[in-house]
Amino acid sequence: MALKALDIYKLLPKKNCKECGDPTCLTFAMKLAGGKADVDLCPYLSDEAKSVLGASTRPPIRPVKIGVGERSFTVGEEFVFYRHEKTFYHPPGIIFRVSDTQPADEVAAIAGRVRDESFTRVGTELRFNGIAIENTSGSVEKFAAAVAAVEAVADLPLVLISESPDALCAALVHCGTYRPIIHAATADTCEAFCGIAKQHGCPLVVKGDTLETLAELTKSCCASGVSDLLLDLSPASLGDFIRKSSAVRQLAITRTVPELGYPVYLDSTEGELQDAAIALGITKFASVIVTRPLSGASAKAAMTLRQNIYTDPQKPIQMNPGLYRIGSPGRDAPVLMTVNFSLTFFTLEGYLEATRIPCFLLIVDTEGLSVLTAVAAGKLSETLVRDAIKKFEIEKEVDHRKLIIPGYASPLSGRIEEATGWKVLVGPRDAAEIGEFLHEEWVKGKDG
Ligand code: SF4
Repeated sequence: MALKALDIYKLLPKKNCKECGDPTCLTFAMKLAGGKADVDLCPYLSDEAKSVLGASTRPPIRPVKIGVGERSFTVGEEFVFYRHEKTFYHPPGIIFRVSDTQPADEVAAIAGRVRDESFTRVGTELRFNGIAIENTSGSVEKFAAAVAAVEAVADLPLVLISESPDALCAALVHCGTYRPIIHAATADTCEAFCGIAKQHGCPLVVKGDTLETLAELTKSCCASGVSDLLLDLSPASLGDFIRKSSAVRQLAITRTVPELGYPVYLDSTEGELQDAAIALGITKFASVIVTRPLSGASAKAAMTLRQNIYTDPQKPIQMNPGLYRIGSPGRDAPVLMTVNFSLTFFTLEGYLEATRIPCFLLIVDTEGLSVLTAVAAGKLSETLVRDAIKKFEIEKEVDHRKLIIPGYASPLSGRIEEATGWKVLVGPRDAAEIGEFLHEEWVKGKDG
């Protein structure tokens, strides 16, 4: 049962020393109550207070930071089962797997791809997250050499996959302080793997085919001082993964089995249906997804799905209102107006670029609502457009006074004309038709 902030405050040392990163004990108590802080951040708590607070205030799924530096990422710290209940916070890392039996130049090329490849969707740069190196050869030297080959290309978050403590130790020499994930401690190897993870400060994956085994393993690891853990559910099939992953999420967020409150690790390479496994991992609570290097199409599908699932459903993705230039518009260039819903902006921007007609795009603040919704909700109005024209000083940019508005905003055309003094042209409803519209209404109209 979760404690309230005031109950938590009563248990704190009340030194207001800020060592936890919060300005006062009370603000720290409020964060603890919201599951947004860890009791370990306060060095003055007694063991007794820690054990009372720990179970009820830690995020139900422990946040685990993977890697160090610019490409590091955090997983876990999720609070809900369904995205629409609140949001999912930390998107899963998509990690390309290589083997230490592959030629070094091939391994380096894959690492280079993870380092460099990205694509931009609705204004966000999407990237792969790291490299998993598997000790397929069984050789200590080959494993260390493969890790060194990846490290020579970039400081990417890594997963070291081996059953051999010797191979892991040899590989870790090349990783410095970069905290690779170690995969995977089982009931037989738990002690040795915990020792390595503790010595190098690495997150550790524990692997077991039942939830009971996993809970036992996490308990042992924590008792050994390793608490940055991930769970490999050893699924026998995709259906088995859904069952186990859903059960882990439910038992963790309700704090029914706190020992399962760790991010889930999924190796999507084990079956034939890798793309399906990745999609299931993204939608069903995996936090680290290991894959074979993906084709361009599969990569885009995976990263688009991940972006969609991990946006806040209560906050539409928004553009900053303002005057945007498509190409190098001159003083006679068309001026189009639309809303600040990102998807609208980027869709329209793409079609406008394709027309090769330089123009201005005025983005007004409808709080991220689409045109149709903004008109229906009264968020798009003539005064909003008038104020945006003034604020972004469009009259200094063009000699004409003609404004093209979206087709779905046509009910406002008369009022916009009255409020702004600009002549309003009602554009198409479908952004795909904007090219034809501009050629007919603007270019030909001007020429004619
Ligand atoms: Fe209070 Fe502990 Fe934070 Fe210091 S470290 S401000 S005592 S909660």
